[in-house]
Amino acid sequence: MNGTPSLLRPAALATALALAAALPAPALARPPRLTLVVTVDSLGTDQLLRMRARFKAGGLGSLMAQGAFFPNARVEYASSRTGPGHATLVTGAHPWRHGIVGNAFLNRATGKLEPTFADADHPVLEAPPGANDVSPANLLAESLADRVRLFTQERGKAVSVSAKSRAAIAMAGRLGQAWWFSEAVGKWVTGTWYTKEFPGWVKAFNEKGIADSYFGKEWGLLEKKETYLGEDDRPFEGALWAMGRTFPHPLSGGLPRPGKESYAALNWSGMMSEVVTQFARATIEGEQLGKDDVPDLLAVSFSASDYVNHVYGPYSWEAQDALLRIDRALAALVTAAERAAGGRANLLVVVTADHAIAAVPEDWASRGVASVRVSPVTMAQALGKELSAKFGGEIVVQGEAPDAYLSGKG
Ligand SMILES: [Zn+2]
Repeated sequence: MNGTPSLLRPAALATALALAAALPAPALARPPRLTLVVTVDSLGTDQLLRMRARFKAGGLGSLMAQGAFFPNARVEYASSRTGPGHATLVTGAHPWRHGIVGNAFLNRATGKLEPTFADADHPVLEAPPGANDVSPANLLAESLADRVRLFTQERGKAVSVSAKSRAAIAMAGRLGQAWWFSEAVGKWVTGTWYTKEFPGWVKAFNEKGIADSYFGKEWGLLEKKETYLGEDDRPFEGALWAMGRTFPHPLSGGLPRPGKESYAALNWSGMMSEVVTQFARATIEGEQLGKDDVPDLLAVSFSASDYVNHVYGPYSWEAQDALLRIDRALAALVTAAERAAGGRANLLVVVTADHAIAAVPEDWASRGVASVRVSPVTMAQALGKELSAKFGGEIVVQGEAPDAYLSGKG
């Protein structure tokens, strides 16, 4: 994730879980017609287990009960963020190998910090151009999507869907197709790496104006308020996009009519998981996924959990509500995937997380846990000062937490 600075993360956070509600699998089994890989962004095992009793049938709880469940999955690198997390999940390689070492990296040629999936040669389609995540050009290892495409001689489809472009791009790899939500235009978009023109079903979906339809609505609690743990209003919670700190959260972004800030408010709210699922279901339909014996891949990453964890913290009512909504959205998605593939026996479902999250430091501090908020900028500056005092010259040329880029001179 980006945008909200200064949350410290432990060096090696656990990915949440990997579970498979799968086929009983004899050796050399027929491959599933459809594999659904779902990432819940920033879902730690602790959050998952704390919420387990509150999940509904068909969602996370059912998959945990019916599938194989690995609660102790861990990443073995420091930058446990969305770009590296998704790239690691789908390549099986570490960041030093797949090249996605952070959500942003220092481009030594330009001296500037760039988004990790930046690519000047392949801009976004039908959204304003800019320094954004747009293509997998920087992804250096083969991905699951690539493998599906190569193995099937490109007869099998590999499509990814996420509110976050960097998640969608990592999961589509170089040979799949990525779709992501553009906060600039409130529509689903992709980049010219993947296609030169949107297919009819994407155009039709965008014409429905679903993001606009949330304008003027609120993100309210899904369940009775007595069922939420802790307090709603806590002084250290954020309040981005004119959403306020407590339920219900308005989704208008402080605007008089739908626009960038209202699309961002929707994207950073628990409601976005409904929209992601609607688009994912349209993808299944539009691309005819699971319709024949040639294996297809649909990768879906739910981002609301991460945005909400960052703004309100993982112990917040918002985090609880966002996960309950993902649970429902996931149940609907699995049902749609099952139907498309012609039954559970033709479907493999994997649910995982790209990383977990630490609490808001002030939350822990307020309970007496030793915890302090440190700005990544201050941290890089302090490191630079110390190294310069010891060795002379400018040594740290850029900080991109938790990484520091060194000048290489001297
Ligand atoms: Zn993430």
